[in-house]
Amino acid sequence: MKLKTSKLDLNLKHTFRISRESSDVRNNVLVEIKHQGLTGFGEAAPSPHYNESADSVIDTLSRFSLEGYDDVFLLEDILNHAIETLSPNWSAISALDMALHDLVGKKLGVPLYQLWGLNPAKTPQTSFTIGIADKPEIQEKTREADKYPILKVKLGTDNDEAIIAAIREITGKPIRVDANAAWKDPAEARLKIEWLAGRGIEFVEQPMPERSEAMNRLKQESPLPLFSDEDSRRPEDVPRLADSFHGINIKLTKCGGLREALKMIHIARSLKMQVMLGCMIESSLGITAAAHLLSLVDFADLDGHLLIQDDPFAGVSYDDGYLRIPDLPGIGVTRNPQKPQNDRTPISPN
Ligand code: MG
Repeated sequence: MKLKTSKLDLNLKHTFRISRESSDVRNNVLVEIKHQGLTGFGEAAPSPHYNESADSVIDTLSRFSLEGYDDVFLLEDILNHAIETLSPNWSAISALDMALHDLVGKKLGVPLYQLWGLNPAKTPQTSFTIGIADKPEIQEKTREADKYPILKVKLGTDNDEAIIAAIREITGKPIRVDANAAWKDPAEARLKIEWLAGRGIEFVEQPMPERSEAMNRLKQESPLPLFSDEDSRRPEDVPRLADSFHGINIKLTKCGGLREALKMIHIARSLKMQVMLGCMIESSLGITAAAHLLSLVDFADLDGHLLIQDDPFAGVSYDDGYLRIPDLPGIGVTRNPQKPQNDRTPISPN
């Protein structure tokens, strides 16, 4: 098997701002694994929050060889080897995991959801994200998001109440809130959550950085369900979060891919926790890969591909809040001809 990496720069439709950063372009990485005339695709969406970049992903994968493997069905062997040698570069491992799963599905001629025995019609509606902005821009984005039935609103500013009030002037649709760990003080977090509870908010994601005792108390007192995101990176993180959060947000690029995400779902279920499937800003490749797991989760936040211009891949289609998974082998994406691939890096030596 041959592994190839190339940069995948995604231009955003609008500047995207959360409590700790803002961006106009996302520098992702495309991974291709070629074997016996088939190509498996994977996407890494590296995050500076986890000390990752497109260059670090490409460098990490240049140190991994698939030369010794001729059987793509040895997924466990290959991915265990990848985790042993490449961790903690989880977004690189995720792209490798995605490309291998895509290849397995293509070899067998079945979509991934079918491989796992999942019902592609039994999926939750996905939310659409509104980043931090001033009132006129927030209201303009809310109007633009008219066709999306659920909003996810980024908070963690000095004017969180004004942001929610501005949106509520426009719409009464369900809102989910993500503070991205920005509320530093448990008393502040509790007051904000109590204020939000009367305003049609479904749940709050990562209100504070993890502080077990304070978060445990917040969970007991919170009138709204609390979800972890920054704290629930990997399967081994889940058990210690059960006392602090009602649910976890899983992202492929954060945990190391589809195989690790499946583990997290099962661990969370065994702890009676709810599960959300989220994403970074990704093309339809990464989003469609994640969408195959949707029937196993309670909440979906798979909107990264809706925030970019010139999506280099075609995959899931959007249908009144629901993501429809293509009935094609593997992940089921095809290259979008409108955008030439930003193929600047050479084929890696393996
Ligand atoms: Mg989040």
